[in-house]
Amino acid sequence: MTDHAANADADAGGDAGGATPAEPERRCSAKGCGAAAAWAVRWRNPKIHGPERRKIWLACDDHRAYLSDFLGGRGFPYDVVPLADLD
Ligand SMILES: [Zn+2]
Repeated sequence: MTDHAANADADAGGDAGGATPAEPERRCSAKGCGAAAAWAVRWRNPKIHGPERRKIWLACDDHRAYLSDFLGGRGFPYDVVPLADLD
């Protein structure tokens, strides 16, 4: 029902500052990284998210493992798919 909220959350968390582009580009969610994203990391926190809730982080090649390790270290379920496969 609130699937679209995940995208809104991602946008809100990725405030790089500066002008807002007319057409939002998909950029890496890692802090301080403005690289174009090539991967989508889909995850959830089982303690606060129901089984149907899914958060999505975008990752560049350099941060795909970094973000995956971050989630894995917390025991969060996640999977990584090429961004092109996301929609
Ligand atoms: Zn990155």
